[in-house]
Amino acid sequence: MTNLVKAGIDIGGTGTRIIIQGEDGTLNSKSIATAEFAAIEKSMRSDALAAHVLSLIPEGMKLESVGIGASGPVDTNLGIILNKDTLECFSFFPLVSELSQKLNVKVGIDNDAVAAVLGEYYFGAGKNTKRLLMVTLGTGVGVALLENGKPFRTRDGQHPEAGHIPISGDPVTCYCGLKGCWESLASRTWLQQNLEALLPNTPFEKHNVNFYKTVALEREDVANVFHRYGHHLGRGLVTLLTLYGPDLTILSGSAAHYYPLFKSGMEEALKRSDGYAINTLIVPSELGDVAGALGAVAIPELT
Ligand SMILES: [Zn+2]
Repeated sequence: MTNLVKAGIDIGGTGTRIIIQGEDGTLNSKSIATAEFAAIEKSMRSDALAAHVLSLIPEGMKLESVGIGASGPVDTNLGIILNKDTLECFSFFPLVSELSQKLNVKVGIDNDAVAAVLGEYYFGAGKNTKRLLMVTLGTGVGVALLENGKPFRTRDGQHPEAGHIPISGDPVTCYCGLKGCWESLASRTWLQQNLEALLPNTPFEKHNVNFYKTVALEREDVANVFHRYGHHLGRGLVTLLTLYGPDLTILSGSAAHYYPLFKSGMEEALKRSDGYAINTLIVPSELGDVAGALGAVAIPELT
């Protein structure tokens, strides 16, 4: 038995989760509010993160590597997060080289969608797949593709920023400046805004899928929001499924919980004529929020 352990860190705008993996599975884990790091001096943030990692390593065990999945954009070559919008506190400083120096181990970083798809590939719904597509439905829309467990990269080493593929002439303007981006129509943000517009006294985050199931049975306009949401999601998926031909697609992120409510709209948009059929094997995430930290453990070996 080896006494070496690996750490996986999932850094999101709201929470940061650290997992310590040994030979036989997870040994320890911890979640910290990302705001805690924002409250300390920028030059001390990698120290604080390193201290959290060290505090989780069981007695007699030695850290071998650290992998980070972060809410992007992420420059994987320089090891720097470039997210001024939702992760300012960990952005624009050499987090990877600082952590590597302090912990004296190899540190790798990638986008959080890549980390999540790796987690599902090794431990969740994506086991034994050859081409695995992950679409995360959160504040925005993230996409990652694995081919035999290896992340697909663009020319400059990044994951595909597929949240900005155009899906319709819908007049919604995306933060990137263009109209009709998939992200502005299929993110949880769109779903939340449209539900709150119909149910102004019902804060979205306080309710769950069962609550909306009941409301959707009584109110056609609410059911229709979910149906339209599924349609938006499906229109972008058609493009990705046509191009990539994955054997499985996993939906994750906070809006994926509503899968039973938007499934009909999504399936309607996925219909193709026989000769152009696509693989519509689409499932919600199995691991949920833990996928990112679990998958991050594998990142140093891939970079
Ligand atoms: Zn856009």
